[in-house]
Amino acid sequence: MSDVQSVPETQTAYAYAAAAADRPLAPLNIERRRPGPNDVAIDIAYCGICHSDIHTARSEWGSTPYPVVPGHEVAGIVAEIGSDVTKFTVGQRVGVGCMVDSCRECDPCLAGEEQYCERGMVGTYAAQGRDGRQTDGGYSTSIVVDEGYVCNIPDGISLDVAAPLLCAGITLFSPLRHWNAGPGKRVAIIGLGGLGHMGVKLAHAMGAEVTVLSQSLKKMEDGLRLGANHYFATDDPETFRTLRNSFDLILNTVSANLDMSKYLGLLAVDGTLVELGIPENPVEVKVGALTRNRRSFAGSMIGGIAQTQEMLDFCAANGIGSEVEVIAAEQINDAYDRVVASDVRYRFVIDTSTLGPQ
Ligand code: NAP
Ligand code: ZN
Ligand code: ZN
Repeated sequence: MSDVQSVPETQTAYAYAAAAADRPLAPLNIERRRPGPNDVAIDIAYCGICHSDIHTARSEWGSTPYPVVPGHEVAGIVAEIGSDVTKFTVGQRVGVGCMVDSCRECDPCLAGEEQYCERGMVGTYAAQGRDGRQTDGGYSTSIVVDEGYVCNIPDGISLDVAAPLLCAGITLFSPLRHWNAGPGKRVAIIGLGGLGHMGVKLAHAMGAEVTVLSQSLKKMEDGLRLGANHYFATDDPETFRTLRNSFDLILNTVSANLDMSKYLGLLAVDGTLVELGIPENPVEVKVGALTRNRRSFAGSMIGGIAQTQEMLDFCAANGIGSEVEVIAAEQINDAYDRVVASDVRYRFVIDTSTLGPQ
């Protein structure tokens, strides 16, 4: 008999998973790898519910590999570190967003834009990890991630309101920075949901003039409190006449197909409309709406790791967190239905201490 004790290669975590597109999510036990030399093992405290989780769980973007454990707005505490980890210590408050790996060699990776890795970033869930196993997301009690894809959560932000910053926060921060939102810039945000409400807070903190374009005026009081200067209902045709040619930057966070030509008409000369929401079906645009005013129609996907850290530090310095409704695991399916019905103010966050064995 050997006296060397064998260390198990994996560790069980409790999770919530979708087994098929038309089935509610349910408890599932999953295995996490033991931390390798560069890995950080994280005890997850909270995980936000992003609309992308719903698109994936329901196979709305096609070919979801089941079972899938969604969740890419992860906030927790470092439980263990590998021997070569230098950025993190046990007990540190950390976050993980939409990616857990990339090639680290291509131009975008070297430029700190790992989300645009030429070989494809490794998504936090429903992707194939470098170890060949399918990645499982943050609706779980723990996760093991290479330290290069983990961010520090500054002390000023509590973990529940920090979690949604890891996707919703960076998805808005990155285009706001790229298109130079700041004093003198007129920025409109379409849709006051998980992404949209972060856009209002961040654009306001950057000093831009912020307008919300929401389906109705139901959430107007909230929008103004979060930092919007103006608030308009898109179900009122007058809105599109009043606001013609009046924005430098429009960020569209809506997950459904809208008539984008109408929204392009709201851009001033050289204005840009950035697609952030990812609807199931292709979008049609009248080219005349682009040629007029030399407008641009663009897209943007999350942000790099360094910029995600910059965003977290910016949020801490400006007292910004997400507006959250903390829920227990058993409420996840109801929360999904409420997100789809635009009935969320403004992000559901799962308290992962409510996850248990299947
Ligand atoms: P969300 O919380 O559901 O917010 C979307 C908002 O869009 C709703 O609150 C609603 O706001 C508005 N809306 C919904 N249905 C609409 C309709 N039929 N017509 C007009 N407006 C409608 O979703 P989210 O988590 O913010 O995500 C939004 C989208 O972004 C999803 O498609 C998601 O997959 C995508 N996403 C993209 C990235 C990226 O990197 N590009 C990252 C994360 C998420 P009002 O009630 O105010 O109108
Ligand atoms: Zn997301
Ligand atoms: Zn790469």
